[in-house]
Amino acid sequence: MRLVIAMMKHETNTFSPVRTDWQRFRDWGAYLGPEARRAYEGTAMPIGAYLKLAREIGAEVVTPVAAEAMPSGPVAAEAYELMAAAILDAVRSGCDAAMLDLHGAMVAATAPDGEGTLLERVRAVAPDLPIAVTCDLHANLTERMVRNCTALVGYKTYPHVDMHIVGEQVGRILLRAMQGEIRPVMGWARRPLLAQTLRMGTDDEPMRTLIEMARAEERRGLLAATVFGGFPLADFADAGTSAICIADGDAAAAQGAAERLMDAAWQRRDDFLYRHEPLEQAVARAKALMDGPVLLLDHADNVGSGGTQDVMTVLREVMRQGLEDVAVAAVFDPDAVRQMAAAGVGARVTLALGGRTDMPAIGRRGEPLTVTGRVRTLSDGEWVVRGPMYTGVRVSMGPSAVLDTGKVEIVVVSRHHEPWDQGVFTSLGIDPKTKRYLLLKSRIHYRAGFAALARATVTLDGDGVTTSDNDRLRFERVRRPIFPLDRINAP
Ligand SMILES: [Zn+2]
Repeated sequence: MRLVIAMMKHETNTFSPVRTDWQRFRDWGAYLGPEARRAYEGTAMPIGAYLKLAREIGAEVVTPVAAEAMPSGPVAAEAYELMAAAILDAVRSGCDAAMLDLHGAMVAATAPDGEGTLLERVRAVAPDLPIAVTCDLHANLTERMVRNCTALVGYKTYPHVDMHIVGEQVGRILLRAMQGEIRPVMGWARRPLLAQTLRMGTDDEPMRTLIEMARAEERRGLLAATVFGGFPLADFADAGTSAICIADGDAAAAQGAAERLMDAAWQRRDDFLYRHEPLEQAVARAKALMDGPVLLLDHADNVGSGGTQDVMTVLREVMRQGLEDVAVAAVFDPDAVRQMAAAGVGARVTLALGGRTDMPAIGRRGEPLTVTGRVRTLSDGEWVVRGPMYTGVRVSMGPSAVLDTGKVEIVVVSRHHEPWDQGVFTSLGIDPKTKRYLLLKSRIHYRAGFAALARATVTLDGDGVTTSDNDRLRFERVRRPIFPLDRINAP
C-alpha cells in the first residue's frame, strides 16, 4: 500500500498585517519530500500519528510536504500553490490513500477556502481516493471540505493537546474503511454563530459541555464526532461554529448527531461572548494579587491567532502601574535584539521597543515603548518543546534576548512565537515558577505549559488584531446575518 501523508497548516487572520509568504512557513517549519518525514516522525502532531500508523501496517509512504506557519494574514499565492502542487503531484504519481494534517481555517490569496480547494483538486485528480483529514478546533468547516474527503475529524481540546489521538483516530477509520470493515458516512451542521476564541477553552463552559456531548456520541457508537469552535478572525463567508460526525453506514445518525451538537451550541451562544474589562482596572486588580505566579494575558495581541506580537499597550500599563517581578513572553522586535546583541550581555541600553507594525484593520499605527534596562541573556532562540502541546517539535524564535528593567524581564524575539510552553522562558534562563507575574501574549494555548503553575489568571484587554471586541473590526465577507454581529435569535 502506498500512502501520501502531508501537512499544510495555517490559521489565517484576515485582519492581520503580517505577511504569510513561503519564508514564513520556513521560519516555523516547512519541509519537502523525505525531510518532511524526518522532521515529524515521532512527534505528537497528527502527521506523526499518520506516520506511526503507516509504519505499523508496513505501508510505503510519500511525504510531499509538511509545512506550518504561525497564524498571520492571507497566505500568498506562491506559498499556497507550492504546497498544493506538491500534494497533487504525489497523488498524481499514484497512491492508495491520502492522510492530510490540515488546519481548516486557511484563507489563501488564490483560494479563500484553502482546505476545501486543496481537497477538491485532489479529488479531481483521483476521484475515488480515500482521504483522511484532521482539522484544528478552530476550523471553519465548508461544504467543499466535507464533500471532498472520506473522513474528517477535529481536535477536542483547546489548548490542542490531543492532536496525535485525533490523527490516529481518523487514520484508523480510513484504514478500516479500505479493508471493507466499515463504511464511514459524514453528516455536518452549522449555525450562524461567530464564537469568540477566548470563550472556546475546552476546560471552560460552554465548550466543555459540547465536547462532552461529542464524546458521548462516540461512546454510543459514532466513529467520530467533532465540534468546531471556528475561527472568527477570518472574514470569510463560512467562518463560524460547526459540527461534523461520522457514522458507520448510517447517514441519518451522523446528521442527527451533528444537529444536536449545533442546537446545544446555539442555545449557549451568549456564553461564547467575552465580557470586556477596562485595562487600567484589570491591571490594578492584578497588582492587588499577592500569590504568584499570576498569568497576565495580552490576548488582543496573541501571535497564535495572527497578532503582530509587538503591541505595547498592555506592557506599558503594567509598567505604569509599577508591577514588580514580571517576566514577559514575548515581544517581537528583531531590531531590538540586534541592538542588544551589539551592546552585549551586561550592557545597559535604552530601546524603542516593539510597535514596529501598523494595523490598518483596527486603524492603529505601531507605537514603540521606550525602555531602559540591562541585557541579561542572548540566545539563538532554538529549543525543543517538552510540554504537552507540540511535544518533540523544535521551535525557533530566531535570535532572542532578555532585557531586564529591574522590575520586568522582557523576552524579545526575532520570529513570531506564541508562549504555550515554559521553554519560551527556560531556554533564556528565566524560571517562570519563581516569578510573581508572567505576562503572556497568548489567549488559551498558554494553558498547555502554564496553567499548572498559575495561582491566578487575569485577561488584559489591550490593542491588536486578535481583539475580542468585534466593534473594532470591519467584517465584509462573512455570511450575514450571523451572531453576535447581528443580534439574531433564531438560526
Ligand atoms: Zn487552534
